[in-house]
Amino acid sequence: MHDFTGLGLAAPILSSLARANYSRPTPIQAQAIPSILAGRDVLGIAQTGTGKTAAFALPILHHLATRPRRPERGTCRCLVVSPTRELASQIAETFRTLGEDLGVSVAVVFGGVSHGPQIKALARGLDVLVATPGRLVDHLDARVARLGGTEFLVLDEVDQMLDLGFVKPIRRIVGDLPSRRQNLFFSATMPREIAKLAEDLLRDPVEVSVTPVAKTADRVSQQVLFVETHRKRDLLVELFGDAEMSRAIVFTRTKHGADKVMRHLESAGVAAAAIHGNKSQSQRERSLAAFRSGAVRALVATDIAARGIDIDRVTHVVNFELPEVAEAYVHRIGRTARAGSEGVAISLCDDGERDLLRNIEKLTRLRLPSHDRRTGEAAAPIGVSRQRREMSRPEPRAETRTARAASAKPGRTAPAPARPRPAAARNGNAPAR
Ligand code: AMP
Repeated sequence: MHDFTGLGLAAPILSSLARANYSRPTPIQAQAIPSILAGRDVLGIAQTGTGKTAAFALPILHHLATRPRRPERGTCRCLVVSPTRELASQIAETFRTLGEDLGVSVAVVFGGVSHGPQIKALARGLDVLVATPGRLVDHLDARVARLGGTEFLVLDEVDQMLDLGFVKPIRRIVGDLPSRRQNLFFSATMPREIAKLAEDLLRDPVEVSVTPVAKTADRVSQQVLFVETHRKRDLLVELFGDAEMSRAIVFTRTKHGADKVMRHLESAGVAAAAIHGNKSQSQRERSLAAFRSGAVRALVATDIAARGIDIDRVTHVVNFELPEVAEAYVHRIGRTARAGSEGVAISLCDDGERDLLRNIEKLTRLRLPSHDRRTGEAAAPIGVSRQRREMSRPEPRAETRTARAASAKPGRTAPAPARPRPAAARNGNAPAR
């Protein structure tokens, strides 16, 4: 697939794509769009950064354009359920951008903000409703929203929704949907519980899989700095001495830790903002806007807060603390390798985190180059600048196969890269033994 014209999308969508500078479908778009246009359910194994939002938004917009119908009050034609408010807002924004010439009505509902404006938007009737599960259930219970007329259900980042305990609300939402509908289901991984949910919800789905979770690691130049816990904050400031580190996301394990690191950076003269679950919606939006505009160089974040955030040109990801779950490492460093760009990931590892590091190396099948920055050890040059010349981006492989939902094998995860070595060698990351 060389460009979007071959997919048969309605002309107003093609003009929006041109304005958005999307010239070629990404692998997941090339694989998923024809099946969705043909009316099939889709089970997509893909993470953010692969272009999966447009992979479902484009064919849904085509459907809305070619079968115009005024949605009844309180109902929507397409329901997208997403785990976090940031992701929900971004999905809504993608629908608005790509559907600009179609005049589609799009609204987003999530918790933490007042009900009033959401109730008003729902009352008008919507083409596309993007919602987080909890608040949508509130609106269903209050009979402000009704799902009887829904033609499309999209469940996005299902693994994350399950991590956040949203199984019950999802099943409650699905119970209100008409049985005749098209289902699109996206998850970065496919453990047993998710395969079971897919099996229950999808009818004879086409399975699309791109960029296995461990693959992202190949596109990022990674390194580990061993350091004592109490020296991490000063080392972080030292890292910001590199002018190339112009837009960095710093990950901490806790909300409290995020605030502390943010204040330390600020006091050292590095403009920083923090984003985590204790911040109000307007604070989170302000932090993101400041980071996007370049007003601050550092965004200090917890995993959940950073999930799905779509910010281009992040030069570095710093793991101030290693994540407890190795897969979170891959999600974190994927923030700096979005839509084909390259990036650097630096992990500060204290003695208590060695086991976490080993788990990460096992998952990514890379042995990460390390420097010892503990007091008394010779300070090796850090060399955190981006290694542009050495980096090239392997095309993510896409594979499509038709599968009955019943064959979505329990326990399967996104396939691990068959041969990570060549890409790893290009990036200067030593392959694991
Ligand atoms: P997503 O995986 O949906 O979070 O998308 C990741 C990023 O890729 C977003 O910034 C999109 O705007 C961008 N993107 C999606 N599809 C394309 C495309 N076909 N060409 C260029 N950029 C794209």
